[in-house]
Amino acid sequence: MNWVKEKFKELKPKIKSIFRVKVGPEGHLWQNCSCGTVLYKQDLEDNLFVCSVCKKHHPITAKERFKIFFDNGYFQEIFPMLPVDDPLKFADTRIYKVRLDNVREQTKRHDSVMLAEGLINGIKVVAGIVDITFMDGSIGRAAGEAFLTGAEHALNYNLPYIFFCSGGDMRIQESTFSLIQASRMIAAISLLKEKKIPYIPVCLDQTNGMITGSIALIGDVNIAEPKAKVTFFSQKQIKETTRDILPIEFQTAEYLLEKGQIDLIVERKDLPKTISTLILIRTNQNKTFLSDATDYQSDFTGEASSFTS
Ligand SMILES: [Zn+2]
Repeated sequence: MNWVKEKFKELKPKIKSIFRVKVGPEGHLWQNCSCGTVLYKQDLEDNLFVCSVCKKHHPITAKERFKIFFDNGYFQEIFPMLPVDDPLKFADTRIYKVRLDNVREQTKRHDSVMLAEGLINGIKVVAGIVDITFMDGSIGRAAGEAFLTGAEHALNYNLPYIFFCSGGDMRIQESTFSLIQASRMIAAISLLKEKKIPYIPVCLDQTNGMITGSIALIGDVNIAEPKAKVTFFSQKQIKETTRDILPIEFQTAEYLLEKGQIDLIVERKDLPKTISTLILIRTNQNKTFLSDATDYQSDFTGEASSFTS
């Protein structure tokens, strides 16, 4: 059987090269896309970080998101009151407080949720986003508090609340303190609905666990970017539990749209005009930013009365 081994040794590099995704000289100027295309970073940025070949919406930082979402890239950050760190005095391989300090130093953020106020097509809104660069976008007390601050701001000034969901697993170091943020955030959304203030979540790639199970899919209109993965349990966990074969597109925005959990899939470039149009329809203002707004109108007319006094 030695000749087989020898032949395999000889062929191994060729086999590897066939199955390897072709990658280029990633660095300051170039970025690889999962479709195998090497993209010039400036072109990618000009295209709002969307691959021109496969249309993959690459992840972007919270600041970049707000810059492309708000009119002329202008927004005013809202800084929430923050709770005391590390309520459980938790330590695993490192002390949680030290871990937090290090991430803050690296990211220049206090925690994973960023809030801002600004205009989209001239409509003033409050927007929040989970920044996945901060401890994978996990949700602890500070993130929950920030979400509530955004909701409170929306209530106080009667502004629509847009929330970009990503990351969203529980902050394991805060245990129950992390878990109860889900019910606090849902309670805040109930208050917005009571006051007929629009709440629109936008699911980004990848939205997970606690956020999926709480605030990501209970908006007045649930939006997702194309091909965004929205999960509660991982595919592996579901496969092992159900022993079932899952569809290839399982847990993608397109799959959830088909099942009715997502209402609209919107490309990044179209988010401001789509969301501002939805707000205007919801608040019965006779103005749109979309040529096909009549489609939205007919879709939502049945429920629109709940947003108007
Ligand atoms: Zn691509």
